[in-house]
Amino acid sequence: MKRDYFDSEPRSNEEIDGKPCRTCVDFKTWAKLTGKSGAKRGKNCPLDKDQLGRNTWSFLHTMAAYFPDRPTDEQQRDMKTFINLFSKFYPCEYCAKDMQVDIANDPPKTGSRSDLSLWFCNLHNKVNKKLGKPLFDCSKVDQRWFHGWDDGSCS
Ligand SMILES: Cc1cc2nc3c(=O)[nH]c(=O)nc-3n(C[C@H](O)[C@H](O)[C@H](O)COP(=O)(O)OP(=O)(O)OC[C@H]3O[C@@H](n4cnc5c(N)ncnc54)[C@H](O)[C@@H]3O)c2cc1C
Repeated sequence: MKRDYFDSEPRSNEEIDGKPCRTCVDFKTWAKLTGKSGAKRGKNCPLDKDQLGRNTWSFLHTMAAYFPDRPTDEQQRDMKTFINLFSKFYPCEYCAKDMQVDIANDPPKTGSRSDLSLWFCNLHNKVNKKLGKPLFDCSKVDQRWFHGWDDGSCS
C-alpha cells in the first residue's frame, strides 16, 4: 500500500493477523470494521488509536519534563536511541512511519530538559497539524506537563 506522508486519513484497511488493526483507527471505525457498529468501549480493553495516542503523549511529554537540565553525553545518547527505537515499535504502523520521517527531518534535541520538552512539543504539533487539530502553544509545555497551570488549578 502506498503511504503518503501528509495523507492524514487513518489507514483503516491495515490488518494485523488478518484482523483490523485496532491501534490504527479510532474505536468507532474499528467497531464498524469488525461488524460491531454501535459497540461500546469496555473497561480494561485493548487500546484504540486515540487512547494509545493520548497515553503515549502523556508518557513522552512527562519523560521530557523530567529529563535532566544538564544531561551527560551518555544520557543524551540514550535518549536519542530510545526515541529512534520507539519510532520503530510504536504500534500504529503508519503513525510510526510518519514519526521516522519527522525524526529524520528534525532529529531529537537532547541538550537539556527544556530542549527535549520543546522538541516533543513540536513533534506533537506536527501530528496535530496533520490531523487538522489546533496547535499547542509550546511556551506552555512546562505548565501542561511539569509545573501545572499558572492559575493554580493543578495544585
Ligand atoms: C508518536 C505518535 C504519533 C501519532 N501519529 C498519529 C497519526 O499519524 N495519525 C493519527 O490519527 N493519530 C496519531 N497519533 C495519535 C494522535 O496524536 C492523538 O493522540 C489522538 O488523535 C488523540 O488525540 P487527543 O485529541 O485526545 O489529544 P492528544 O493529541 O493525544 O494530546 C493529549 C494532550 O496533550 C496536550 N497537547 C496537545 N498538543 C500538544 C503539544 N504539541 N505539546 C504538548 N502537549 C500537547 C493537550 O493537553 C492534549 O489534551 C499519534 C500519537 C503518537 C504518540
